[in-house]
Amino acid sequence: MESIKNPTDFWFTIEPYVFVSIVDKCALLYNTLDGVTIETDKPEVIELLNEMLQERNCGVALLENERYSKADIYTFIGELREKYMGDIIDVTLSKGKPVQLLPYFNYPNMRNRKVDFSALKNMLDMLSCIRIHVDDSTDSAKLISLLQTMPENVSFDVIGNMESVSNELWSFFNQHPSPATIICAYYNVIALDTSCSHNFSYRVSVKFPVDMIQWKRSLQILKNQTSPFEFVFEITSDADCQQAEQLINNYGIENYCLNPVYTGKNIAFFEEHVFLTKEDILSTSISIKDLFAKQSMYVSDFGKITIMPNGNVYANVNYPALGNIYSSSLYEIISKEIAEGQSWLRIRNQFPCNACNYQWLCPSPSDYETAIGRPNLCHVK
Ligand code: SF4
Repeated sequence: MESIKNPTDFWFTIEPYVFVSIVDKCALLYNTLDGVTIETDKPEVIELLNEMLQERNCGVALLENERYSKADIYTFIGELREKYMGDIIDVTLSKGKPVQLLPYFNYPNMRNRKVDFSALKNMLDMLSCIRIHVDDSTDSAKLISLLQTMPENVSFDVIGNMESVSNELWSFFNQHPSPATIICAYYNVIALDTSCSHNFSYRVSVKFPVDMIQWKRSLQILKNQTSPFEFVFEITSDADCQQAEQLINNYGIENYCLNPVYTGKNIAFFEEHVFLTKEDILSTSISIKDLFAKQSMYVSDFGKITIMPNGNVYANVNYPALGNIYSSSLYEIISKEIAEGQSWLRIRNQFPCNACNYQWLCPSPSDYETAIGRPNLCHVK
């Protein structure tokens, strides 16, 4: 432990809710309570931060008075205090060197841990959502016997042409305590029996050009029942945006979202509307919990599987099937995803993101990166 020699020296520390990233001689300090940041490339400040982050220093570095009086350090400390992100403490106010608990990601990586499932009482507890694609070939009886074994906290997405869903399957979803979301195109919307509508919600996709007769029909069906519904407008261009806006305004659509779709020919549209700027990244505040989650898993995919009508199971349909429900157990399928899958544990660890201070502030890599073939969809690097 460092001895206290000069009574005008200080202990330097940052607050436990501040995330620090130092990459390529630049530092980013991110206040997870309000999203406020400090960025610096001043060598003396970087050195001080590096000292503070060394494990042996327990989040506190000695800041000698002479060092404190240097312009870059003095200005940095002033900004740090102004933004409630850190502080300096006169060494004479403490008997020894204080300790600060800093946020530190120390969760063992599931994959590196060699898939130690013995730690989990029930593998199925990892599941949060099952996406079930249905068509006329769906074997309802076999599917139901599998779904019956699911924990009660698992939700269901039923995807496809709803005319293909058998009465047995509707009845199963209706009796199961978990919520079920019907995901279909607007021209496939069907009216649910009033006795089972309480358990369902709709997510209705709309591609352009829109068949207005079908649009009005589906809207009427949705408005005539009590289940909540949301429209997802599939957007490939500015023209699609304008058409979506017209439908939203003309028909008083309250719940909707715009889903950009990459066609292979609309990269300019993506660069303008989807690629992130620094301002986009910093526009929402991110909790410490979110920052840690992004370092260990792809939050949007983790816990979700997709079952196709032929029984094939995917963690993400853009990657190879993990198995088939008619020949493998879900235990085997989930084990495979954890051991060698490419979806649940996908994190933003590729170049250039692994050499960027925004690495864990940016959203996890999505299917857009895969489709476009670029690891970073941003204007930053
Ligand atoms: S390079 Fe990667 S981490 Fe950095 S801003 Fe772009 S997408 Fe985010």
